[in-house]
Amino acid sequence: MSKKTKKFKTEVQQLLDLVIHSLYSKKEIYLRELISNASDAIDRARFEALTDSSLLDGDEDWKIKIHTDKDERTITISDNGIGMSPEEVESNIGTIANSGTKNFLSELKKSKDGDNAEFIGQFGVGFYASFMVADKVTLVTKRAGSSEAVKWVSNGGGSYSMEEATKESRGTEVTLHLRPEMDEYMDEWKIRGTVKEYSDYISCPIVMDITRKEKKDGEEEVETITEETLNSMKAIWKKAKSDISDEEYNEFYKHVSHDYAEPMKVIHFVAEGVTEFRALLYIPTQAPADLFMPNRNHGLHLYVKNVFIGDNIEALLPDYLRFVSGVVDSSDLPLNVSREMLQDDIVIKRIRKSLVGKILGALSEVMNKDSKKYLEFYQQFGQVLKEGVHSDFENADKLKDLLLFASTKSEDNKPVTLKDYVERMPENQKEIYYLAGKSIDATKNSPHLEAFKQKDFEVLFFVDPIDEWVAQRLTEYDGKTLKAIDRGEIELNSDDEKKQKEEEVKKSREEYGDLLKAMETQLDKSVKEVRVSTRLTDSACCLVADENGMNANMERILRSMNQEVPESLRILEINPDHPLTARMKKLFEENNKSEQLSDYIELLYDQALISEGSQVKNPLRFTKLLSTLMVDG
Ligand code: ADP
Repeated sequence: MSKKTKKFKTEVQQLLDLVIHSLYSKKEIYLRELISNASDAIDRARFEALTDSSLLDGDEDWKIKIHTDKDERTITISDNGIGMSPEEVESNIGTIANSGTKNFLSELKKSKDGDNAEFIGQFGVGFYASFMVADKVTLVTKRAGSSEAVKWVSNGGGSYSMEEATKESRGTEVTLHLRPEMDEYMDEWKIRGTVKEYSDYISCPIVMDITRKEKKDGEEEVETITEETLNSMKAIWKKAKSDISDEEYNEFYKHVSHDYAEPMKVIHFVAEGVTEFRALLYIPTQAPADLFMPNRNHGLHLYVKNVFIGDNIEALLPDYLRFVSGVVDSSDLPLNVSREMLQDDIVIKRIRKSLVGKILGALSEVMNKDSKKYLEFYQQFGQVLKEGVHSDFENADKLKDLLLFASTKSEDNKPVTLKDYVERMPENQKEIYYLAGKSIDATKNSPHLEAFKQKDFEVLFFVDPIDEWVAQRLTEYDGKTLKAIDRGEIELNSDDEKKQKEEEVKKSREEYGDLLKAMETQLDKSVKEVRVSTRLTDSACCLVADENGMNANMERILRSMNQEVPESLRILEINPDHPLTARMKKLFEENNKSEQLSDYIELLYDQALISEGSQVKNPLRFTKLLSTLMVDG
């Protein structure tokens, strides 16, 4: 391969500009990022060697070496990991495939002080952190099993070069040529401190040659060089909880999750019994930008008998817990497990079951102990958690208890749990009521709520698009049926009241029967039926869906997803006690064929559409009719 120079992709260029010109503090995290890459490469080599021991080439002395050269002003980080082929260098280092990078860039631009070094690790652009301290970076690498080595060089400007190189053994060597005034980063104690702080848990030794000058009595000063290991290598999840500080937990979280913030909750436990394993799980504070991206990586890191098997092991967690990160370490699995086998493995299934139980238990604990913290979590991840109600029947009851909904009785829209709701249900209320809509504001004045307000019955607002799907599964809680108040018949009254109400409805039907029929005939194509309402007190009319029909909200959601929605006719309900109804009856009796009556019927239907948040079919005609009416007064 002859030497070639290539331009960085625009995104990489922008990123480098930011790294070089905007990030000032915590420059030492470059070391954390390079060590983390080296450690990943060693984990991969170890794993690939399980099935192809020739890759080892006699070298199983896994380590990451840091070397400084004070004269050349360089720091070199080398590993005997998997290494990279020239193609891999090109695709991994020369470009950024990571979809999070754009978000990273925009986050950085948004932040006022522009100094957010912590962001770097989150978006998998760690290698570029080198340019915070270096004005030239050289990478020499050789893929395990290959004889071809390659050298990559860049000064962080617009381009990089690549050429053939010689390298004895597999692995990668990254050399940083320090910028002026960055000498402190070569200091032994600075390096020791940084490794201890950020990389202590890395499972292979991070070593450095330490030179000491000794002078024994009467002899000449002698220089001794010893290779010292700087990290304790103790896998943090294997330590006793009492030996781990919050800082250590948090630092490890940043390593496994690529998040820059602190986790919301740490779950660390040892499972004993049929299946034995250790797990260290983290629930984040903030949702990552790609939480809803279909091909997003998720899952935990899996270790078997101290060997790293892989990250993003999806089989360990259901999809709806994809925000959880961490590590599982089990000795009950064979070392040669493949990702495909994991999906059906009985041990994995048992571990997964136990992890889900622990995570849901931990969330419930947060909810009970610190409702404010739980609400913050829920605002970030509630939507994802709700997917579980639809997919995880086994844990449905636990999940139901973790749901929160704003309601007609919540102060400042602060959501309530179903348990809270049931506990404060008046004795004469038999069902749990909800109303689905676009937003709390658009829903809280809905005419459907009127009778419930009068009865002092609380109604939950289902205003997340996913709530409609949740509702399909969430049909019951604590033995009480959940009922959509814009669907089917509503029965709010006690037996005595019911009788009385039935009488009233019967009377209204007789009174308005002919008018309702006339409306039905005119609105034949728009509504299925026109009937006397039992749910309205103030408004003149509203639309309701059939018991099994589709409500306006569901129609709106499906349309927004570009789905074909069949025209489903709803029922128009009329408030018999509203003056408008009386007025229309009068018009009807005067002349049941009059144009004015027909306009009124049309306007009434349009009103019902508007109040449920739908659009009128012919806005122009609606405004014309309304204007005429206003003029005629
Ligand atoms: P990240 O490590 O978050 O993916 P980086 O920019 O740090 O992002 O690295 C990009 C990729 O380059 C890595 O995913 C890995 O495939 C490769 N890489 C980086 N350092 C090494 C190394 N020391 N050995 C082998 N591959 C490496």
